[in-house]
Amino acid sequence: MAYIKVNNNKVTPEVAKKLIDLCPFNAFDYQDAYLSINASCKICKVCVKKGPEGVCELVETVKPSVDKSKYKGITVYIEHHQRIAHNVSFELIGKAKELAKKTKEPVYALLVGHRVDHIAEQVLSYGVDQVFVYDHEALETFNVERYARVVEAFFKKYQNNVILLGSTPFGRSFAPRIAARLKTGLTADCTMLDIKEDGDLLQIRPAFGGNIMAKINTPNHRPQLATIRYKMFKLPEKEIPHGTISHESIDGIDLPDRIHLLSRLDKPQVKDISEADVIIAVGRAFKKEKDLALIEPLVKKLDAQVACTRPLIENGWFDAKHQIGLSGRTVKPKLIINLGISGAVQYIEGMKEADLIISVNQDEHNKLFDISHYSLVGDLYEVLPELNKLIDKIWQVNV
Ligand SMILES: Cc1cc2nc3c(=O)[nH]c(=O)nc-3n(C[C@H](O)[C@H](O)[C@H](O)COP(=O)(O)OP(=O)(O)OC[C@H]3O[C@@H](n4cnc5c(N)ncnc54)[C@H](O)[C@@H]3O)c2cc1C
Repeated sequence: MAYIKVNNNKVTPEVAKKLIDLCPFNAFDYQDAYLSINASCKICKVCVKKGPEGVCELVETVKPSVDKSKYKGITVYIEHHQRIAHNVSFELIGKAKELAKKTKEPVYALLVGHRVDHIAEQVLSYGVDQVFVYDHEALETFNVERYARVVEAFFKKYQNNVILLGSTPFGRSFAPRIAARLKTGLTADCTMLDIKEDGDLLQIRPAFGGNIMAKINTPNHRPQLATIRYKMFKLPEKEIPHGTISHESIDGIDLPDRIHLLSRLDKPQVKDISEADVIIAVGRAFKKEKDLALIEPLVKKLDAQVACTRPLIENGWFDAKHQIGLSGRTVKPKLIINLGISGAVQYIEGMKEADLIISVNQDEHNKLFDISHYSLVGDLYEVLPELNKLIDKIWQVNV
């Protein structure tokens, strides 16, 4: 790491002008007889080498480093609402166990709240080595400041290598607070994780709107903190618990009292496509919005939820919550029927883990066919009425 330092005692208006003219990145600002370097500086060192002598100098800073051997354990923060754990935490336990096999470190769970022992028992059944429980009435409701202090105290005591949270609305708001308190980085919204034998976590996530998959690691800081999308990993099998529960004290943890919960208004529960068992997904092949009526019999009979590709959000046919894909929701239904969808990588990444995939497309080379269990080549305006008739027949036989 390095930066350019300006020795302002040697700066005159003429010197400033020379440096401003010299810099190819417009990185100098001269105001009130003070020369400073702005964010455009690329440390190309032209000012050091070719500028007036002694005005600019390169300062090398010491690279932060960490003794990795001191940090052990992959911890999953257990998210819960109204004393019910969120499944994303269990999915993360499954992944943490997989990673821990490589690095031979324990898998921990961190549970913060009040009257949450039943969740601790549930967490153990997913095969973690230790569940750390901070259970206190002062932690009854989520308070970002207090909870962040608890995670900080936990980390300082147990020196974890990795802390994982779900990339849910809760995790997305809480994790940056933890990162700030622990002075570490945060990779938000990961879709894949891997780990090196030395414990460096490879955090993989879409970047630049999903155009590339970025591989991020944090080799010089601990803990390595990441949030991971819901439904990216399989729910692990339950097992006979072998781990233990440690009840931790909050004594000595400074719990700020600045945020007060005045009242609480629960939003009406809406079905989310990421929770759906059956999805009918529609694409741009539908020429008019009213043509979507064609899918209604299927939706009813299969008790399905409707999802779509991004263009259908863009043309205003659906709310963004219905979009599958890298910039939408990740789904893992038992059955998904793709109707007139080209199978762009940004779409496929959001649904490829479905148990059973059926796709209808008039193009026999459609990319979705490569990952589909059943592929129907044909015009959906002809196929759908036939499918509806078929389902009707099956329905009549079974009812
Ligand atoms: C940064 C970025 C992020 C993105 N994120 C997402 C995302 O999260 N989700 C997403 O969905 N997209 C996303 N996209 C857009 C994505 O790249 C595709 O453009 C989009 O998925 C295409 O939607 P589609 O398959 O409905 O439409 P099209 O690509 O137009 O495909 C229509 C398909 O219908 C078939 N078809 C046409 N008429 C008929 C018919 N009568 N009968 C049967 N088949 C027919 C065609 O053969 C074709 O395969 C993103 C793009 C970018 C650049």
